[in-house]
Amino acid sequence: MNQNWHGALIRHLLLLATACLIVGLITGAYGWSFAVGLGTYLAWTLRQLLRLHAWLSQHSPDTPPPDGYGLWGDVFDSIYQLQRRDQRARGRLQAIIDRVQVSTAALKDAVVMLDTDGNLEWWNRAAETLLGLKTPQDSGHPISNLVRHPRFKEYFAAQNFQEPLEIPSPVNDHLRIQLYLTRYGNNEHLMLVRDVTRIHHLEQMRKDFIANVSHELRTPLTVICGYLETLLDNAEDLNPRWLRALQQMQQQGGRMQALLNDLLLLAKLEATDYPSANAPVAVDLLLLSIKNDAQALSGQRNQRISLEADTGVRLRGSEAELRSAFSNLVFNAVKYTPDQGEIRIRWWGDERGAHLSVQDSGIGIEARHLPRLTERFYRVDSSRASDTGGTGLGLAIVKHVLLRHHGQLDISSVSGKGSTFTCHFEKVQVVRG
Ligand code: ADP
Repeated sequence: MNQNWHGALIRHLLLLATACLIVGLITGAYGWSFAVGLGTYLAWTLRQLLRLHAWLSQHSPDTPPPDGYGLWGDVFDSIYQLQRRDQRARGRLQAIIDRVQVSTAALKDAVVMLDTDGNLEWWNRAAETLLGLKTPQDSGHPISNLVRHPRFKEYFAAQNFQEPLEIPSPVNDHLRIQLYLTRYGNNEHLMLVRDVTRIHHLEQMRKDFIANVSHELRTPLTVICGYLETLLDNAEDLNPRWLRALQQMQQQGGRMQALLNDLLLLAKLEATDYPSANAPVAVDLLLLSIKNDAQALSGQRNQRISLEADTGVRLRGSEAELRSAFSNLVFNAVKYTPDQGEIRIRWWGDERGAHLSVQDSGIGIEARHLPRLTERFYRVDSSRASDTGGTGLGLAIVKHVLLRHHGQLDISSVSGKGSTFTCHFEKVQVVRG
């Protein structure tokens, strides 16, 4: 194409020069003849330029270019071809975008795209029903202004999206939504939102069922245990054949009561996301009283129980919940450590938060059991549990209480050497001084 342009340009200029030369020969005024020739050529070129400008500035891309001669004809045609190619490419891209939009609009799940700062960029129709986003008013607004649940704010600020988040929908409290966030591109976020109301109801029914059954069983069991106690208080009146049976009944009754209490406590912990109390708890004093109870539980077994607690580090939360979590860890250490063993309780704070560790020189746990230890009723071996009278719910309670107090449980153990259970609490939960 370039070659043609050059050729045409040279041809035009040669033609013009020859014409001017002939006119100059006839008239004898070479200077004027060339001046008039060049002026005419310039005027013609300007006219072509104006036609090009007029054609480009009109908005309809379908209008063919004006007719042009020589070099200008080539320029008009090339621009027209470029425009057509660009238009076809744009049409193809638009078709892809339309298909994506139509398919995401048909989705029941909401899809929301957020920019680097968490501002809304794009969303599908389901996002309007599940999150109450309004098109186009909400575009560019921060997502945290529209989904105002405190847990969402925490979740988004922490930028740890390994687990999905379940919260009530901002539009309707009866709707439960689950949010999955993923980072992509230049730290932008893609958010998927699912309606999990049905699953949530089923889960709620399961929790209510367990709580109700535990509650209903408590009264008859208290009556049975009460009568057993009265009978055993008058053991001398009993036929010796029945004595052992009654003692075993009382022991198992006690276990059932502990089990029901733990189940009810777990149901209570699951009912809300955060503890109702949020006052700073003096953990050092709490641990001192737990240590005394542990000493009593240890009895004549000669275990050495030590406590080192930083008195200046307190923890926001519910004292009752923390007591049950910490005492579960300490009492487990007593239960699973042989006579003359050592149990070390430590509480300290640092720049990352506060930490409690309960270390024992007990029987330890094999590494394969560690990931499942906080599951309900998970036991390393069932004979161990019946020896110690455990319910299998202790560590599940610990995990729940820690979750509610921005904490995490870390377990390390060597079989036969001992175990260390460490609770790490985030800085937000710690009060110093
Ligand atoms: P349990 O009421 O049976 O003690 P937990 O949930 O408290 O239930 O503990 C689960 C299991 O973890 C226990 O059955 C026991 O096998 C193991 N375990 C817990 N703490 C210790 C420990 N300090 N040393 C060894 N094993 C432990």
